[in-house]
Order: sequence, then structure tokens, then C-alpha cells
Amino acid sequence: MKTIGMLGGMSFGESTASYYRELNEGVKKTLGSLYSAKIVLNSVNFEEIEKLQHTDDWETAAGILKKSAKSVEAGGADFLIICTNTMHIVAPEIEAAIDIPILHIADATAQELVEDGITKVGLLGTGFTMEKEFYKGRLKEKFDIEVLVPDEEQRALVHKVIYNELCLGKINDKSRVSYLAIINYLRDQGAQAVILGCTEIALLVSQEDTNVPLYDTTAIHARQAVKYALDY
Ligand code: GLU
Repeated sequence: MKTIGMLGGMSFGESTASYYRELNEGVKKTLGSLYSAKIVLNSVNFEEIEKLQHTDDWETAAGILKKSAKSVEAGGADFLIICTNTMHIVAPEIEAAIDIPILHIADATAQELVEDGITKVGLLGTGFTMEKEFYKGRLKEKFDIEVLVPDEEQRALVHKVIYNELCLGKINDKSRVSYLAIINYLRDQGAQAVILGCTEIALLVSQEDTNVPLYDTTAIHARQAVKYALDY
């Protein structure tokens, strides 16, 4: 079994803890008995990262994550997962700083979308994820998947709920209703499915809440990491 390297803390309780549980449960489900995942985790201070994101200082943020990634590699990880969609903005810098491969969250998600025949998909995530090219562009260029995002006002709401509620562990019914309306909007624009492209969104919205197929990036990324770790 390969050792999984995790860059976590973004956010800790709502995202990293879900990953940790899903990685271990995935290994246990596949191998049974007392099997669990081999993991090296480096968890950063999200207050620091969030400030750098919102002041557009991606270079300093990349420096912090590069240092964390190197410590994960030195700790014996065979490959790395960056446990947040947003910080894949600096995945190329992290990749260049280490010798182990990164299992990219957009590639893991795209693989499942392609398997399911989805060619046009809606994307919910932080403003950075919905607006910058690192995610949408990758899905289009590498996998020929067209990505639709909410309108400006909706994107602002989705972003605000992530930072002011979900990353703090607050689950608000009113926000769920707003998210579901935005998911319907994306469906009406032609999306065959919607990517929950922020690792905390599944705490707010689940498949039981809507008929629109949802692709939860935390669950998908963890599932693909288990497959890679166990070589199947
Ligand atoms: N975990 C979130 C994501 O998947 C947001 C936190 C962050 O900005 O890293 O994008």
C-alpha cells in the first residue's frame, strides 16, 4: 500500500477531517479487517492562508504550501493530495518543489465525470475556483468538459457562505435553500450535473436534497487516492 501525503487544514474540521475519515474508510472497505490508510499529514494555519488569498498574495501562500509539501515528502509519502480545491491554484509551484506526484482534485473529478458521460457541468466553489482558469480551464483543455458557473451575485453568495459559515462549521438552512436555487439555475443553463468544488459544501448540500447529480470533490478525491494507494 502506498503512503498518502495530505496537505490539510483548509479547513481543518470540515474538510481535512472528512478526507481523513474517507481515506481510512475507503481502505478498510476494500481490504477489510483492521486495515487503515497509511497517511502523512501536514496541516497549515488556515487564518494565514485565507488572508493571503484575499490579498492576492498567491506567491507567499505557495511558499507555505511548498514547505508543507516537502515535509510530507520527507515524512515518507508516495504521493500528495492537496485537500482543498482553491489552493490547487498553486499546484504547479508545489509540483515543481517535490519529487512525488500530485493527484490533482480536478483530474480526479473529471475522471468520474467522463466515466458518467457528463460533458457540461456546473461548478460551485470559492470565488477563486469559480472565476480563475486553473480549474475550469483544466476541465476544458484536458477533458473537454464545459464548465458553467453561477452569475456574479450568486458567486458572491456561494463564496461568502464558504468562508463565513462552512469553514467555521456553521450549517445554515437558509444557505442550503440558496445553494439549491443556484444548483437549479445551473441545471436550467444546461448543466447535466454540478461539481461541489469546495471541500466543505457536502456538509450543506447532499444528493438527497436535489435531483441534479452532484459530484462531491472531497469524496471523489479521497476515493481516487485510495484507488491509487492500493493500485487498482
Ligand atoms: N476547502 C475549500 C476549497 O475546497 C475552501 C478553503 C480554501 O480556500 O482552501 O476550495
